[in-house]
Amino acid sequence: MKNEDELVNAIRSQLLWWRSFGLKDVAIPAGGPARQVQQADAISKSASLEAIRAELGDCRRCRLHTGRQQIVFGTGNPKAKLVFVGEAPGEEEDLQGRPFVGKAGQLLTKMIQAMGLTREEVYITNIIKCRPPQNRNPLPDEIAECRPFLDAQLNLLRPKVICALGSFAAQTLLRTQDKISQLRGRFHDCDGIPVMPTYHPAYLLRNPQDKQLVWKDMQMIMDELQLLREA
Ligand code: URA
Repeated sequence: MKNEDELVNAIRSQLLWWRSFGLKDVAIPAGGPARQVQQADAISKSASLEAIRAELGDCRRCRLHTGRQQIVFGTGNPKAKLVFVGEAPGEEEDLQGRPFVGKAGQLLTKMIQAMGLTREEVYITNIIKCRPPQNRNPLPDEIAECRPFLDAQLNLLRPKVICALGSFAAQTLLRTQDKISQLRGRFHDCDGIPVMPTYHPAYLLRNPQDKQLVWKDMQMIMDELQLLREA
Protein backbone atom coordinates (compact mmCIF):
# COMPACT_ATOMS: atom_id res chain seq x y z
CA MET A 1 0.00 0.00 0.00
CA LYS A 2 1.45 3.30 -1.01
CA ASN A 3 -0.49 5.58 1.30
CA GLU A 4 -3.40 5.88 3.64
CA ASP A 5 -5.89 6.73 0.87
CA GLU A 6 -5.09 3.53 -0.97
CA LEU A 7 -5.46 1.51 2.21
CA VAL A 8 -8.84 3.08 2.90
CA ASN A 9 -9.94 2.41 -0.68
CA ALA A 10 -8.80 -1.20 -0.48
CA ILE A 11 -10.82 -1.70 2.69
CA ARG A 12 -13.86 0.00 1.16
CA SER A 13 -13.55 -2.21 -1.88
CA GLN A 14 -13.35 -5.32 0.29
CA LEU A 15 -16.41 -4.27 2.28
CA LEU A 16 -18.28 -3.53 -0.91
CA TRP A 17 -17.35 -6.95 -2.23
CA TRP A 18 -18.89 -8.59 0.83
CA ARG A 19 -21.88 -6.31 0.95
CA SER A 20 -22.66 -7.09 -2.68
CA PHE A 21 -23.59 -10.58 -1.45
CA GLY A 22 -26.14 -9.10 0.89
CA LEU A 23 -23.91 -9.29 3.96
CA LYS A 24 -24.60 -5.93 5.52
CA ASP A 25 -22.90 -6.30 8.91
CA VAL A 26 -19.50 -7.55 7.91
CA ALA A 27 -16.32 -7.21 9.91
CA ILE A 28 -13.03 -7.36 8.07
CA PRO A 29 -11.85 -10.94 8.71
CA ALA A 30 -8.63 -11.50 10.61
CA GLY A 31 -5.79 -13.22 8.85
CA GLY A 32 -4.76 -10.64 6.30
CA PRO A 33 -5.41 -10.18 2.60
CA ALA A 34 -4.66 -13.79 1.57
CA ARG A 35 -7.40 -15.17 3.81
CA GLN A 36 -9.83 -12.51 2.60
CA VAL A 37 -9.14 -13.45 -1.01
CA GLN A 38 -9.69 -17.15 -0.24
CA GLN A 39 -12.99 -16.41 1.47
CA ALA A 40 -14.08 -14.11 -1.33
CA ASP A 41 -13.19 -16.79 -3.88
CA ALA A 42 -15.17 -19.38 -1.97
CA ILE A 43 -18.39 -17.44 -2.27
CA SER A 44 -17.74 -15.82 -5.64
CA LYS A 45 -19.56 -18.63 -7.44
CA SER A 46 -22.83 -17.47 -5.99
CA ALA A 47 -22.05 -13.82 -6.47
CA SER A 48 -23.16 -11.87 -9.47
CA LEU A 49 -22.39 -8.72 -11.30
CA GLU A 50 -26.03 -7.82 -10.79
CA ALA A 51 -25.43 -7.75 -7.03
CA ILE A 52 -22.58 -5.28 -7.48
CA ARG A 53 -24.77 -3.22 -9.83
CA ALA A 54 -27.54 -3.25 -7.24
CA GLU A 55 -25.09 -2.04 -4.59
CA LEU A 56 -24.17 0.85 -6.89
CA GLY A 57 -27.87 1.67 -7.10
CA ASP A 58 -28.90 5.14 -8.25
CA CYS A 59 -25.42 6.32 -7.32
CA ARG A 60 -25.04 9.89 -6.03
CA ARG A 61 -21.65 9.40 -4.41
CA CYS A 62 -20.02 12.09 -6.57
CA ARG A 63 -21.03 15.15 -8.57
CA LEU A 64 -21.21 13.25 -11.87
CA HIS A 65 -24.71 12.00 -11.13
CA THR A 66 -26.08 15.49 -11.79
CA GLY A 67 -25.14 15.47 -15.48
CA ARG A 68 -25.57 11.84 -16.45
CA GLN A 69 -28.45 10.22 -18.29
CA GLN A 70 -27.55 6.71 -17.15
CA ILE A 71 -24.95 4.78 -15.20
CA VAL A 72 -22.81 2.73 -17.60
CA PHE A 73 -21.84 -0.26 -15.50
CA GLY A 74 -20.39 -2.69 -18.04
CA THR A 75 -21.50 -5.36 -20.47
CA GLY A 76 -20.41 -8.76 -21.66
CA ASN A 77 -19.70 -12.25 -20.49
CA PRO A 78 -19.42 -12.75 -16.72
CA LYS A 79 -17.06 -15.64 -17.46
CA ALA A 80 -14.90 -13.61 -19.85
CA LYS A 81 -11.22 -14.44 -19.99
CA LEU A 82 -10.54 -10.95 -21.31
CA VAL A 83 -11.80 -7.68 -19.81
CA PHE A 84 -11.37 -4.29 -21.47
CA VAL A 85 -11.29 -1.26 -19.16
CA GLY A 86 -11.76 2.18 -20.68
CA GLU A 87 -11.88 5.62 -19.14
CA ALA A 88 -15.45 6.86 -18.81
CA PRO A 89 -18.69 6.83 -20.80
CA GLY A 90 -19.01 9.38 -23.59
CA GLU A 91 -22.16 10.93 -24.99
CA GLU A 92 -23.44 7.88 -26.87
CA GLU A 93 -22.63 5.53 -23.98
CA ASP A 94 -24.45 7.85 -21.59
CA LEU A 95 -27.52 7.74 -23.84
CA GLN A 96 -27.50 3.98 -24.41
CA GLY A 97 -26.24 2.84 -21.00
CA ARG A 98 -23.60 0.61 -22.63
CA PRO A 99 -19.82 1.10 -22.80
CA PHE A 100 -17.98 1.74 -26.05
CA VAL A 101 -20.91 2.12 -28.45
CA GLY A 102 -19.79 5.37 -30.11
CA LYS A 103 -17.11 5.78 -32.80
CA ALA A 104 -14.29 4.63 -30.51
CA GLY A 105 -16.48 1.71 -29.53
CA GLN A 106 -16.94 0.68 -33.15
CA LEU A 107 -13.17 0.55 -33.50
CA LEU A 108 -12.89 -1.47 -30.29
CA THR A 109 -15.45 -3.92 -31.69
CA LYS A 110 -13.29 -4.33 -34.81
CA MET A 111 -10.20 -4.91 -32.65
CA ILE A 112 -12.06 -7.60 -30.67
CA GLN A 113 -13.22 -9.26 -33.89
CA ALA A 114 -9.68 -9.13 -35.31
CA MET A 115 -8.63 -11.17 -32.27
CA GLY A 116 -11.16 -13.81 -33.27
CA LEU A 117 -13.55 -12.88 -30.48
CA THR A 118 -16.93 -11.20 -30.19
CA ARG A 119 -18.10 -8.49 -27.82
CA GLU A 120 -20.34 -11.10 -26.22
CA GLU A 121 -17.31 -13.21 -25.29
CA VAL A 122 -15.42 -10.44 -23.49
CA TYR A 123 -16.43 -8.00 -20.77
CA ILE A 124 -16.18 -4.24 -21.25
CA THR A 125 -16.32 -1.57 -18.58
CA ASN A 126 -14.78 1.75 -17.57
CA ILE A 127 -12.86 3.21 -14.66
CA ILE A 128 -15.79 5.47 -13.86
CA LYS A 129 -19.41 4.73 -14.60
CA CYS A 130 -20.87 8.17 -15.29
CA ARG A 131 -20.10 10.57 -18.12
CA PRO A 132 -18.01 13.56 -17.06
CA PRO A 133 -19.22 16.92 -18.43
CA GLN A 134 -17.82 17.60 -21.91
CA ASN A 135 -15.94 14.29 -21.59
CA ARG A 136 -13.33 15.90 -19.34
CA ASN A 137 -10.91 13.66 -17.44
CA PRO A 138 -12.36 12.14 -14.28
CA LEU A 139 -11.23 13.85 -11.07
CA PRO A 140 -9.45 12.03 -8.22
CA ASP A 141 -12.44 12.08 -5.88
CA GLU A 142 -14.71 10.73 -8.65
CA ILE A 143 -12.29 7.86 -9.21
CA ALA A 144 -12.06 7.22 -5.48
CA GLU A 145 -15.85 6.81 -5.25
CA CYS A 146 -16.08 4.57 -8.31
CA ARG A 147 -12.94 2.46 -7.90
CA PRO A 148 -14.37 0.03 -5.32
CA PHE A 149 -17.06 -0.96 -7.82
CA LEU A 150 -14.49 -1.57 -10.56
CA ASP A 151 -12.39 -3.59 -8.12
CA ALA A 152 -15.46 -5.61 -7.14
CA GLN A 153 -16.24 -6.27 -10.82
CA LEU A 154 -12.68 -7.40 -11.51
CA ASN A 155 -12.62 -9.51 -8.34
CA LEU A 156 -15.74 -11.29 -9.47
CA LEU A 157 -14.70 -11.70 -13.10
CA ARG A 158 -11.07 -12.66 -12.31
CA PRO A 159 -10.24 -12.64 -16.05
CA LYS A 160 -7.01 -14.13 -17.39
CA VAL A 161 -6.09 -10.74 -18.90
CA ILE A 162 -7.20 -7.13 -18.48
CA CYS A 163 -6.61 -4.75 -21.37
CA ALA A 164 -6.37 -1.15 -20.15
CA LEU A 165 -7.47 1.21 -22.90
CA GLY A 166 -5.58 4.48 -22.80
CA SER A 167 -3.36 6.24 -20.32
CA PHE A 168 -6.12 7.03 -17.89
CA ALA A 169 -7.24 3.41 -17.44
CA ALA A 170 -3.64 2.13 -17.37
CA GLN A 171 -2.43 4.71 -14.86
CA THR A 172 -5.44 4.18 -12.61
CA LEU A 173 -5.32 0.38 -12.65
CA LEU A 174 -1.56 0.26 -12.21
CA ARG A 175 -1.37 3.19 -9.78
CA THR A 176 1.35 4.89 -11.75
CA GLN A 177 1.93 8.17 -13.54
CA ASP A 178 4.03 6.55 -16.28
CA LYS A 179 3.03 7.41 -19.83
CA ILE A 180 1.01 4.98 -21.91
CA SER A 181 3.83 4.93 -24.47
CA GLN A 182 6.11 3.56 -21.72
CA LEU A 183 3.53 1.18 -20.27
CA ARG A 184 2.20 -0.47 -23.44
CA GLY A 185 3.80 -3.48 -25.07
CA ARG A 186 4.25 -5.60 -21.94
CA PHE A 187 2.19 -7.13 -19.18
CA HIS A 188 1.92 -5.55 -15.74
CA ASP A 189 0.30 -6.90 -12.59
CA CYS A 190 -2.97 -5.76 -11.03
CA ASP A 191 -3.81 -7.84 -7.97
CA GLY A 192 -2.52 -11.00 -9.65
CA ILE A 193 -4.16 -10.34 -13.02
CA PRO A 194 -1.94 -9.55 -16.03
CA VAL A 195 -2.73 -6.12 -17.45
CA MET A 196 -1.83 -5.08 -20.98
CA PRO A 197 -2.02 -1.32 -21.42
CA THR A 198 -2.56 -0.08 -24.94
CA TYR A 199 -3.62 3.06 -26.76
CA HIS A 200 -7.26 4.10 -26.45
CA PRO A 201 -9.40 3.53 -29.59
CA ALA A 202 -10.30 7.25 -29.59
CA TYR A 203 -6.57 8.04 -29.79
CA LEU A 204 -6.27 5.58 -32.68
CA LEU A 205 -9.03 7.38 -34.57
CA ARG A 206 -6.82 10.48 -34.43
CA ASN A 207 -3.53 8.62 -34.87
CA PRO A 208 -4.19 5.65 -37.16
CA GLN A 209 -0.44 5.18 -37.70
CA ASP A 210 -0.27 3.64 -34.21
CA LYS A 211 -2.76 0.86 -35.01
CA GLN A 212 0.19 -1.46 -35.66
CA LEU A 213 1.43 -0.97 -32.10
CA VAL A 214 -2.00 -1.76 -30.70
CA TRP A 215 -2.20 -4.84 -32.88
CA LYS A 216 1.12 -6.02 -31.39
CA ASP A 217 -0.38 -5.57 -27.91
CA MET A 218 -3.48 -7.52 -28.96
CA GLN A 219 -1.29 -10.31 -30.31
CA MET A 220 0.47 -10.55 -26.95
CA ILE A 221 -2.94 -10.87 -25.30
CA MET A 222 -3.92 -13.55 -27.82
CA ASP A 223 -0.75 -15.48 -26.98
CA GLU A 224 -1.45 -15.18 -23.27
CA LEU A 225 -5.01 -16.45 -23.83
CA GLN A 226 -3.72 -19.10 -26.23
CA LEU A 227 -5.98 -17.85 -28.98
CA LEU A 228 -4.95 -19.05 -32.41
CA ARG A 229 -3.38 -16.39 -34.59
CA GLU A 230 -1.72 -16.24 -37.95
CA ALA A 231 2.07 -15.95 -37.78
N1 URA B 1 -14.40 5.91 -24.16
C1 URA B 1 -14.23 5.22 -23.02
O1 URA B 1 -13.17 5.27 -22.40
N2 URA B 1 -15.24 4.47 -22.60
C2 URA B 1 -16.39 4.36 -23.26
O2 URA B 1 -17.25 3.63 -22.79
C3 URA B 1 -16.52 5.07 -24.45
C4 URA B 1 -15.52 5.85 -24.89
